[in-house]
Amino acid sequence: MTARIIDGKAIAQEVRAEWKVRADALKERGISPGLAVIIVGEDPASRVYVGNKVKACAELGLYSEHIALPADTSEAALLAKIAELNADPKIHGLLVQLPVPRHIDSSKVIEAISPEKDVDGFNPINVGALSTGNMRFAPCTPFGAMTLLEKAGVPIEGKHAVVIGRSNIVGKPMAMLLLQANATVTICTSKTVDLAKFTRDADILVVATGKPKMITGDMIKPGAAVIDVGINRMADGKLCGDVDFESAKEVAGWITPVPGGVGPMTITMLIANTVQAAERAAGL
Ligand code: NDP
Repeated sequence: MTARIIDGKAIAQEVRAEWKVRADALKERGISPGLAVIIVGEDPASRVYVGNKVKACAELGLYSEHIALPADTSEAALLAKIAELNADPKIHGLLVQLPVPRHIDSSKVIEAISPEKDVDGFNPINVGALSTGNMRFAPCTPFGAMTLLEKAGVPIEGKHAVVIGRSNIVGKPMAMLLLQANATVTICTSKTVDLAKFTRDADILVVATGKPKMITGDMIKPGAAVIDVGINRMADGKLCGDVDFESAKEVAGWITPVPGGVGPMTITMLIANTVQAAERAAGL
């Protein structure tokens, strides 16, 4: 079997066009959805991510503010900036690019962001809302992975979904979203004994470990949908995922490539969450 490739770039374009229609409808009512992105320090990767988020807003005609603070910004000053943006009616979505410098407590930062504007979905109130089935904002990367499954027509209800990884930003919310979509969900971690026993039983396999090419074709159930969240930079400068694409695509029914799979969806879902926040603020 050769897997159907789930084209994240094409699906991201399609989803952005859908959200642009909703953003334009808000604009007709005089509301421009607004996103504020705060970055503290000079981390080059974070600067690229923030630049891409601001660029995506501009492409869809959203209002955005990019607030770059120096690395020695105090925790109190950052919290004051967040409070100011929480109260700013032009801003519907607010995020602080992680990681923040070590002298700042990232939990305090996440908790300071108003749950109504927390478009990353990391505030514990929104994490709780997701796990009690009253979701307000789904964290962008798992939301993007779910959207890929849905757009590719992968059946989810009643299927066995195995998520490898339990981070707060990918693994755990991914498992919650799959559970909400009525999959039977297993979460595996670095402590799981006999990982292949679980992966070989997965109808849907989501891999988010940060371990390059660790899932090989012999670990995949024939016909399974394989979502590779991993982004790893190899010695030759190329990107690869946590799945060995070449062997996996011979066994899987669907597979996401890296790059060009989950990656393009993350910022797209940030846009979606920002537009939703603006709709809610307008009482829609
Ligand atoms: P973390 O390092 O926070 O979490 C990794 C998880 O994988 C942990 O739960 C860990 O288990 C588990 N794990 C590690 N090794 C193994 C193993 N051998 N077997 C089973 N489980 C294992 O990573 P993130 O969740 O933040 O990111 C995961 C990957 O996704 C990275 O490659 C990252 O770059 C990428 N990513 C991509 C995004 C995108 O936009 N496409 C966005 C965010 C992340 P334990 O808890 O036991 O340590």
